[in-house]
Amino acid sequence: MQSRLPQARELVSQLTLEEKALLCVGKDFWTTQPIERLKIPSVWMTDGPHGVRKARSSDTVGIGDSEPATCFPTASALASSWNLDLVQKVGVAMGREAQALGVQFVLGPGVNMKRDPRGGRNFEYFSEDPVLSGQLAAAFINGIQSQGVGASLKHFAVNNQEFARMYYSSELDERTLREIYLPAFEIAVTQSQPWTVMCSYNLVNGVYAAENPYLLHQILKEEWGLEGIVVSDWGAVNDRPAGAAAGMHLEMPSSGEVNVRKVVDAVQSGELSESRLDEIVAELLTVILHAHEQRQPEAVFSVAEHHQLACRVASECVTLLKNEADLLPVPQGASLAVIGAFAKQPRFQGAGSSQVTVAQIDSAWDALAAQGWQTSYAPGYESDGSTTATLLQEAEKVAANADIALVFAGLPGRYESESFDRDHIDLPEGHNRLIETVTAANTKTVVILTNGSAVTMPWVDRVTSIVEGWLAGQAGGSAIADVLTGKINPSGKLSETFPQRLEDCPAYLNWPGEQGMVCYHEGLFIGYRHYDTRKIEPLFPFGHGLSYTQFEYSSLKLSASQIDESEDLQVSVDVTNTGKWAGSEVVQLYVHPKQSRLQRPEQELKGFQKVELEIGETRTVQLRLTPRDFSYYDPQEKEWLVERGPVEIRIGSSSRDIRQRALVTISSAQPIPFRFTKTTPLGLWLDHPVNCNLVTPIIAQMNNQLGDHGDDDDAATMMEAMLRDLPIIKLVQFTRGALTEARVDALVEQANQDNSRS
Ligand code: BGC
Repeated sequence: MQSRLPQARELVSQLTLEEKALLCVGKDFWTTQPIERLKIPSVWMTDGPHGVRKARSSDTVGIGDSEPATCFPTASALASSWNLDLVQKVGVAMGREAQALGVQFVLGPGVNMKRDPRGGRNFEYFSEDPVLSGQLAAAFINGIQSQGVGASLKHFAVNNQEFARMYYSSELDERTLREIYLPAFEIAVTQSQPWTVMCSYNLVNGVYAAENPYLLHQILKEEWGLEGIVVSDWGAVNDRPAGAAAGMHLEMPSSGEVNVRKVVDAVQSGELSESRLDEIVAELLTVILHAHEQRQPEAVFSVAEHHQLACRVASECVTLLKNEADLLPVPQGASLAVIGAFAKQPRFQGAGSSQVTVAQIDSAWDALAAQGWQTSYAPGYESDGSTTATLLQEAEKVAANADIALVFAGLPGRYESESFDRDHIDLPEGHNRLIETVTAANTKTVVILTNGSAVTMPWVDRVTSIVEGWLAGQAGGSAIADVLTGKINPSGKLSETFPQRLEDCPAYLNWPGEQGMVCYHEGLFIGYRHYDTRKIEPLFPFGHGLSYTQFEYSSLKLSASQIDESEDLQVSVDVTNTGKWAGSEVVQLYVHPKQSRLQRPEQELKGFQKVELEIGETRTVQLRLTPRDFSYYDPQEKEWLVERGPVEIRIGSSSRDIRQRALVTISSAQPIPFRFTKTTPLGLWLDHPVNCNLVTPIIAQMNNQLGDHGDDDDAATMMEAMLRDLPIIKLVQFTRGALTEARVDALVEQANQDNSRS
């Protein structure tokens, strides 16, 4: 792409100021501004992220009326596959569809962290974990872009709720920003170079994302080396000239003359330098020219093949949460009571800009019938989630007369959508009542859930099996049927924690904010980082998912028991399929620092791999940890630092099912710098092997002055604690000026000459 830059610069030199401004504000709802006299083409962008939603005209929104395309499982489902190859295949298929539909950019994937299960768009986001999200996003983008279609990584950044998304400021500390909210973007940018990154609507620490030089220029361009451009979320622009200065290339949709005028005026008044505008336009043209050149006007795709792919993908996303007495897969010949309208009218995607128009929808009901199962049916609830005595009685009757009851429950469409968040995480009362009724009528009850994010399950102990089916895309019904009947052995694992109750959630007290801001007081501790560190029992933990077979872990090996801070660590572990089914397991690697200078989560996911194993087969899974995987972001030093000391490497089948552990000790030639200041407490001076000598004479002098405490040990203990906590500058007062401020400055300077704290 970068090879286009000289040509783009040449074009910029021929553009008038008005034309440059025009290019920066788009043409209409979905396309960029062409400049015919210079043969600058127009390109088409369209949603995303789990299917191509091309509006029928470039100037209409097109939600509910777009060109038919394949609807794949939404991001929370995809993430539960933990399968990078599969997610890349989805990207490839979407890239091909985009080419066939004449689209040059697909607006996705979305990698915002799931800070709270109430987030209205959680179904569109991968996970609560940055490593899982980032790697999936990179795979997805590589897939789309392999087809000559650009991806748009969104929504940059810290856009974790729908409430007030256009005017609230997400307020968070630098370490939380760097360790939790940015890494998924960072991984995706550095591993897959998306052609565009979409900035979000919200403000971050008081500055709109669309005009944020720290995020758009310093981090995205300078630190991560983004080669592509930044496009605004649709309508995210507040001050177009400031956006251009900050590194926001393209406003979408077009604001027409409004912002063209503002950009022209800003250049003419000197508020925006023309050379900065030139740079932005040259980068924008580089991407537009590249995208235009990659078009494949003859491209076609097979609707049937993509439907099959959607089915395969959906079946890998299905997550078996509970399966007592191996009730599933349903035994051959069993009669099945299929209960719940979702079995016949599946909810397979979320509402909003991501809503794909499909040509075909599979239902579990049809799929079970096609497989020849003996079934009966009761709808169980109305489309709004409510139920009635008649519906419940009908459900009870079919449940009692069948060998096994399959209840299809979940969240109706109006519960989960772009533009608003959920108020609670419960299923509709009608669905809960239906499940209770059916369970009472038939002890062999399976609940199959349809939802884009975590829900509570008050009946969890009373049902035998629970299948999380997610929003599984247009072929989800067939995929569910395949899992229930054993054609597919489930292998999904939760990509987000399911809490027991809303009140346990990390952001419970800080959601959705007030008075124009939402404060991320829980800091690093979202998702399993919160539940594991605070030892709160979740309903189902991050990484959890059962299989019809069993896996055993053995022989965890580290390439070294001691490594230097700049070295990688190779981790290998054997996994054996000890059960009676071929199946796939997701091996998860968590890192647990045994000691730490700053507060760290109990454990953090740093690697994973999905392996397919025949019955009895053993495979050695290799994972590599880099120094970054051991590091934390030090807000004082403004860099990632690796700490020396022991770190436990944990291999798990889930975050709460750790099967193997080993220790590695990290040593470093360069100890983590510690900066002494005037307010550094005396305890830290005294603990330092060299700098203690600078303060001991002064302390002795002060103690002389203050006198001793006789035999009163408590007073002595208190005084010592107070002394250790005393900022050195306070000695100026306590020595009544014997120690001068100038001398403190000199001591601080001297201390920082050897600023290591060993
Ligand atoms: C959404 C984006 C979407 C865009 C275009 C916005 O409202 O936040 O995710 O890509 O609309 O539909």
